[in-house]
Amino acid sequence: MRIAHLRDISVILFRELTMTETLMLKFTGTPQAYPDKRPAEARRSDFHEIYRSYIAEKAREQASRCSQCGVPFCQVHCPLQNNIPDWLRLTAEGRLQEAYELSAATNSMPEVCGRICPQDRLCEGNCVIEAGFKSVTIGAVEKYLTDTAWENGWVQPIMPVRDRSAQSVGIIGAGPAGLAAAEHLRLLGYAVHVYDRYDRIGGLLIYGIPGFKLERTS
Ligand code: SF4
Repeated sequence: MRIAHLRDISVILFRELTMTETLMLKFTGTPQAYPDKRPAEARRSDFHEIYRSYIAEKAREQASRCSQCGVPFCQVHCPLQNNIPDWLRLTAEGRLQEAYELSAATNSMPEVCGRICPQDRLCEGNCVIEAGFKSVTIGAVEKYLTDTAWENGWVQPIMPVRDRSAQSVGIIGAGPAGLAAAEHLRLLGYAVHVYDRYDRIGGLLIYGIPGFKLERTS
């Protein structure tokens, strides 16, 4: 029984490895490609974001360049330890909702990080195929995933795991750190109040980062 069980596991692992080899590891034949820049004339008049989004095929293609490292240095050097290889693979497989859920599991604001994280010094700067083949375009794929999630209604409101609303927490500062803390405390069921001296929440995201890097909707 035990030997048969081990054989089953070997078959599953073999299938997984074969699938990975056929679907991923495309970095040798597929060049790195970032989303196109919008024309300067258009940007000069509206100050909207510089880069367009990937189309679905391009996001899948670029995600499939990942070599699925056993020790993923992209993840190691991500301050959030985002599970990058797995959501790249899900993207390459076209399982976009699962890819989004995985990326959002460790990140309160993946739509923001995909746009403004210094990827060249973090995940992409430490991608092992950077030397020679150029890194996987992790940030652009993350932005595509999250924008697709918003468009399709996959972003769900927070559902507290239990009711601790008899206890409330006040958070001073509605910047990214304060809002992320509020999300996690709310998830645990606490009543949360966030205070800020400015009339809009967001802190640095609203008052520090220009619109051509992070567009505002209002
Ligand atoms: S380091 Fe690069 S190639 Fe390796 S898992 Fe991360 S994104 Fe993929």
